[in-house]
Amino acid sequence: MAPMDPHSYADGESPLTSRVALILYLDFATCSLHGSALLTLSAPHSGPLSLDTRSLTIHSAIDPTSLSPIPFSVSQPDPVLGSRLSLSLPAETPLSSILISFSTSSSSALHFLSSPFPYAYTQCHSIHARSLFPCHDTPAARLRFTALLNIPSSLSAVMAARHHARRHPIPSEGGLSCPDSLWCAPGRIVEHFIMDQPIPPYLFAFAVGHIVSRDIGPRTRVYAGPDVVDEAAREFAGTEEMIRAGEKLYGPYGWERFDLLVLPMSFPYAGMENPRMVFLTPTVIKGDPAGAHVVAHELAHSWTGNLITNKTNEDFWLNEGFTTYAERRIVEVVQGEERAALSMGRGWRELNRTVERFRDNMEFTKLKPCMQGIDPDDVYSQIPYEKGFQFLWRIERQVGRPVFDEFTKKYISTFKFQSIDTETFIDFLKANVPGIENQIDLRLWVEGIGIPPDAMEPVSAVYNKIKTLASEFKYGQMSGDDEVVQWNGQEWQLYLENLSSNIDPSQALALDARYRLSESRDWEVKVAFLELAISAGCKEYFAEAERLLKQVGRMRYLRLLYTALAKCSNEGKMLAHRIYAEARNCYHPIAQGVVESILSKHA
Ligand SMILES: [Zn+2]
Repeated sequence: MAPMDPHSYADGESPLTSRVALILYLDFATCSLHGSALLTLSAPHSGPLSLDTRSLTIHSAIDPTSLSPIPFSVSQPDPVLGSRLSLSLPAETPLSSILISFSTSSSSALHFLSSPFPYAYTQCHSIHARSLFPCHDTPAARLRFTALLNIPSSLSAVMAARHHARRHPIPSEGGLSCPDSLWCAPGRIVEHFIMDQPIPPYLFAFAVGHIVSRDIGPRTRVYAGPDVVDEAAREFAGTEEMIRAGEKLYGPYGWERFDLLVLPMSFPYAGMENPRMVFLTPTVIKGDPAGAHVVAHELAHSWTGNLITNKTNEDFWLNEGFTTYAERRIVEVVQGEERAALSMGRGWRELNRTVERFRDNMEFTKLKPCMQGIDPDDVYSQIPYEKGFQFLWRIERQVGRPVFDEFTKKYISTFKFQSIDTETFIDFLKANVPGIENQIDLRLWVEGIGIPPDAMEPVSAVYNKIKTLASEFKYGQMSGDDEVVQWNGQEWQLYLENLSSNIDPSQALALDARYRLSESRDWEVKVAFLELAISAGCKEYFAEAERLLKQVGRMRYLRLLYTALAKCSNEGKMLAHRIYAEARNCYHPIAQGVVESILSKHA
């Protein structure tokens, strides 16, 4: 049986799941999930069928029509893939659906929080949907679904799907997963969701908690905790303008709603492009136009990533490179060229820094790396984003913007609701831009390591000015106040990133004494400064880093600060271990894995 995806047990020969009906019971007391999944295959099938699972206990598998049991076995867990669920479908009567009941109390996708309020949320990218329900957890599979979530009636549920009803539990609908004594217990409520459009499994998402909402546009509502919802509504007021800019560039917005959910501080990413409802960290709310970049990015995924999806994680740049490109085009329309150029400048710094990070393993500086046996969370980096962006920008420079825009529109309308690989993109590019392979070394871009010689550092007056000021500072010259008075977070971030880590501790202290960067309300600026100062050897900032690491679980910040602490000194290393031991439960399981791998690398 041929594997179709290095990160899935799906064998490529049996049909994939095209529909799933989920019944999920969330138990906050034990942080566990009991569920059943009625899977419908794209065609009737008999014989062996493999599904992906991780940390799931499988209780039963049956033919939902005859109720006959289906023999199954669960393999020993692979550290990257999880466990294979092998089913033997009857040879005599091919089945098109299977009902599986399961439970888990250690799902790598699901984070339960108990304080200050009970809250639970999922993050499935890239291969964690399998820890919520058994599935073909490959982006090559696209499925429609319905979901019944049984939750405490004091809470409400939201989902990246259409909300159908909130109602009382009905006896026996908990089915195999949940007896009526639990399903219909007092104080329980059922939230019913429907997703009519087929999505790859990594876009499956829900959240449960004290969640309220505000309408901010004709198709956008902000959902958040009562304490942040008004601030969030103000921050994201420009969303409809961005959707219109996206539609002008890439065609009609195809998901009906574009709602935004602001999660608790532990949410591990800046944002996650779950369709119909983007998930966001509260750290993007800062009363500053730079916060809109994250929304622009997740919005751009509505076309590139959610409509056209990478076939495997090896093709991840098709999602993120295109989205980073589209994000900057949207930002250019709504905020102007200088803002877009600053974002490109930051991307250029990140790209160079990431290539440096992988200098001992250059495979992961390729646009299309080999991911066999590799956990995508371990090698998550800015390469697919920024090298992907550079590749597309290179093509744009070659053919001119009008031609490239026409090409992109055609690309989206040709492949929407499909999962494609890099080779398909390259073939489509060659077919639609004849001769492009003679003008750009496409193989070097896709298969080569590092940064190709025809990549380009962006040019803009503001970006160049910031770089000059940063290099002057390194030689002892502090920027004049009039030069920085207009700066917001993005400028500061770029300035700090351009200082690099080899400044003196005294320089870091002087910078902070002048501009109070360690006290910035902008998380990006604060983290960039703390990383710089700790890397420079300033122990003065250990306490601030500890406070921050106990408050927020966004992985980018954890990566930067835990690495800086672990690398700076023995004292820093010990502190990193102690902070993690105390903060661990506040981090999403994916973030826990990332911090553990940083700490073991610098043991
Ligand atoms: Zn993205």
